[in-house]
Amino acid sequence: MTYTDTRDSSVAVDFRTAVLGGMNSETGGLYIPTALPKLEGRFTNRNPEPSFRDVAFTMARPFVEGEIPDDDLMEIIQNAYPFTPKIVPVGSVSYVLELFHGPTCAFKDFGARFMARVMSYFNKDEGRTLHILVATSGDTGSAVGSAFHGVPGLDVTILYPQGKISPLQEKQLSTFTGNVRALKIRGTFDDCQKLVKTAFTDADLRRRLRLSSANSINISRLLPQSFYYMYSALAVRNRIPLDSRLEDPAIVAVVPSGNFGNLTSGLMAMKMGAPISGFVAATNTNRTIPDWLATGQYEARPSVETYANAMDVGAPSNYERIRAMYPLEEARRLFASYWLDNSGISKAIHDCKERTGYTIDPHGAIGWQAWEDIRSGAMARLADGERNDFTKPGLTPNFPDWGKAAAERNAVGIILETAHPAKFGRIVYDAIGQEPVLPERLAEVMALPDRAVPMENDYALFKEWLEENLE
Ligand SMILES: *Cc1c(COP(=O)(O)O)cnc(C)c1O
Repeated sequence: MTYTDTRDSSVAVDFRTAVLGGMNSETGGLYIPTALPKLEGRFTNRNPEPSFRDVAFTMARPFVEGEIPDDDLMEIIQNAYPFTPKIVPVGSVSYVLELFHGPTCAFKDFGARFMARVMSYFNKDEGRTLHILVATSGDTGSAVGSAFHGVPGLDVTILYPQGKISPLQEKQLSTFTGNVRALKIRGTFDDCQKLVKTAFTDADLRRRLRLSSANSINISRLLPQSFYYMYSALAVRNRIPLDSRLEDPAIVAVVPSGNFGNLTSGLMAMKMGAPISGFVAATNTNRTIPDWLATGQYEARPSVETYANAMDVGAPSNYERIRAMYPLEEARRLFASYWLDNSGISKAIHDCKERTGYTIDPHGAIGWQAWEDIRSGAMARLADGERNDFTKPGLTPNFPDWGKAAAERNAVGIILETAHPAKFGRIVYDAIGQEPVLPERLAEVMALPDRAVPMENDYALFKEWLEENLE
């Protein structure tokens, strides 16, 4: 497979270059595959549906063709995924897709663990350590740190703003030993990002150290996220005759979104033949994409803090990929969009618990509420011409192609649950009066000693530390 970029379609690079480069430094564009091959019907129509690993292998194969042989690819997948997503019905037409069964209890494990193993694979022949630098405001750092921990040929340095992330998030970042370390910077997330960016453009430093990034723009993080869309859509399709007895309903994936990497992965899965009719982009008050769908104007803005803080993104980086795949009008026909403010998020956590018994986290809660509204009449009212004021929480006015099926109650929703509710225990407790049970792997991390190195927000000191501690 060759990869081109969002800003220059004459670019053609292999998978290795796209993965190790992260983005195209010459154009500033993001890599995208030149083709999204459709899986064969004899694979997608199996009953029972293929296992998660089989789906992962079959989908990944064309993207690494000629660069990673089948046996090595299967080993990467087996190693990356000792866990699987789980599908939990919360109603006859509503399914929660739990993506938090990996080590850090958030969906980013799916992308980060695949990326780590692919980078290690490609780095084998280099004979030198590849140093990953990552600035984080919370969840990305722990997923990346955990994913690369113990992976040969690589090490990771995580920068985070001291005092600005939750105690659990801090433990998840700062307790690693061996090839993963953390620096707590006296500054903001933007300061951390600036230190990392300065290092990447420091020719003197780059002569001495091989540096790479591991942020969400890397194509090797997006590809594996498409696996669980395919897997869950096939599984849900097989359950429909038993759960709701609907005839060929629309299957809609509801995606809590921040940088829109997850939703982009869903678009890729659909093009590869996942039986998905469309999407709901669910956001918090950072409603850059809902506003774009509503008005046609894309306007990046500073991010605002919310209860669903992993989605506090005002300038979603994957907007560029979505635009490269679909013009505005097509995007409007493919996905509805929906947003909630903090009080709406709390109420959604509460109502989900009350109506279904399911304890949902603040990110998934927006998705649950979006689907609850859509299936119980919001899409029918939109079909009748009623428009929610898009500057208020709720559904934006565009009417997607699958809207008619939803209005006629012939649609099922797959709600992506992107994090374990215990990661946001305080917010969940305030909404339902009950503390979610901390999974054992999080409780263990809480008991480990903090090893983060404190550091001033000063590039010269940061550089000196890198030169002394990395080799
Ligand atoms: C990162 C994250 C998101 C947002 O995913 P994007 O791919 O950036 O849209 C949603 N929920 C949780 C819990 C996350 O960690």
